[in-house]
Amino acid sequence: AREPEVGTLGRPGVTLADVGGLADVKKRLNQSFLMQMRNPELRATFGKSLRGGLVLWGPPGCGKTFIARAVAGELGASFYEVGLADVLDMYIGSSERNLRSIFDAARRNRPCVLFFDELDALGQKRAQLRGAGAMRGVVNQMLAELDGASTDNEGLFVLAATNHPWDVDSALLRPGRFDRTVLVLPPDREAREAIFSLHLRSRPMDRVDVGQLAKATDGYSGADIALVCEQATESAMEESMAAGQVRPITAQHLRDAVASVRPSIGEW
Ligand code: ATP
Repeated sequence: AREPEVGTLGRPGVTLADVGGLADVKKRLNQSFLMQMRNPELRATFGKSLRGGLVLWGPPGCGKTFIARAVAGELGASFYEVGLADVLDMYIGSSERNLRSIFDAARRNRPCVLFFDELDALGQKRAQLRGAGAMRGVVNQMLAELDGASTDNEGLFVLAATNHPWDVDSALLRPGRFDRTVLVLPPDREAREAIFSLHLRSRPMDRVDVGQLAKATDGYSGADIALVCEQATESAMEESMAAGQVRPITAQHLRDAVASVRPSIGEW
């Protein structure tokens, strides 16, 4: 397939099994996307089309992007990640054109999970926008692409993430568009344990009690935990380098890393 001009296109190797915790989220995703993709006969029987839109919302660093990537991995679909800067352009009409070519690239690469980060900024409530601002055109173009009146969106799954769903234009959330919303909460103790295990697997490890780590990391997001694991890994590598032989990651490395990484989740 032809590469798009903006954003990142890839074929993720991750699946939902790589996502720690979030059992409810996985269940919802299964119902809304994965099941219909895996059961073409059932889909035909029920006359269900293979497409969909979904908003993931919740605090930063808790796995929204990661989940979107895993959905693509599960579907064996390509994953096309688009940020705000890939769409917005200061010249009149350019943002709309960018958006159109993004959707075209996604359609060329079907089955495709097209993922928009920061939907609140991209799809701001039009009523909140002053005058005929450029963003109004972007929302309208987004609506046109999602509706696919003149185009075929079969095999196109459009996912978006936001920390502020209440700022998203309600027209974008209507049936046939981003009509499902899934809350991605900070990881509870069990989920944190899973995230630690996931991020430490296949690395040289001493005996480490991940349950203990999970207990000590209340308020840490998945991204915080990933950072803790990276720091502990770097410490072990440093020691290995000095020792001239592989030194595994120890509980102490991890405790030190936990102490140096601040939890990023406040009140939620
Ligand atoms: P933001 O709103 O800041 O973009 P996000 O919710 O999209 O945040 P991600 O970018 O998906 O967060 O998460 C950052 C990283 O944290 C991931 O790449 C992954 O390594 C790790 N991570 C977060 N949540 C989980 C999880 N539930 N399981 C495993 N890893 C996770």
